[in-house]
Formats: sequence, C-alpha cells, structure tokens
Amino acid sequence: MKHLHNRIYVKPMNKHEKNEIKNVLSSQIDMLTKQTSDIDPDPAHLLRLELLCSAMNRIDAENFGECFICDSPIAIDLLRTSPEKKLCSKCSGYSPET
Ligand SMILES: [Zn+2]
Repeated sequence: MKHLHNRIYVKPMNKHEKNEIKNVLSSQIDMLTKQTSDIDPDPAHLLRLELLCSAMNRIDAENFGECFICDSPIAIDLLRTSPEKKLCSKCSGYSPET
C-alpha cells in the first residue's frame, strides 16, 4: 500500500510551461499598462500591475510557481489566468467545490 500524504499532488511546471506563463505575464503587464492612465490611475490596476511585475522578477527563480507557505507547486491552470499568484489553492483558501 502506498504511503498517502495530505497534500494534493500538483506537477511542478516544466520549461515550456514556464515560458508560457512568462508570455501570459508580459501580455497582462502590457495590457494593464495601456489601460492605466497616468492622470487618473485605477488603484486596482496599479496593484495588479505591481503584483505582475514582481512575478516577472521572480519567474526565473528556481522556486517560481511554488507556494510561499507550503512549497507545493501552484496549479498551472491557476497561473495561466493569474500568474501573480504566490499561494497554492489550499493556502489561499480557495476550494474548487465552493
Ligand atoms: Zn500552499
């Protein structure tokens, strides 16, 4: 019988997937930069932009895509839509059932 551990196993991302996330990041940064006006910037846009830029700075690090709390890999599908995520679905309190 296999040893069971209480973590949901998520495959760590490979090079190809990392490049994909990198592209998502740069296009989202691009889009938000264009949407954000210099005169009257939307605070929500600015915050997201900041998070995206910090993700861009971290993307080449070995541990990018790992949860800051539990070190489990963050689901690639989550990173595809929100590449700035730092926590896995479990630690961020997100549950797909609710
Ligand atoms: Zn976690």
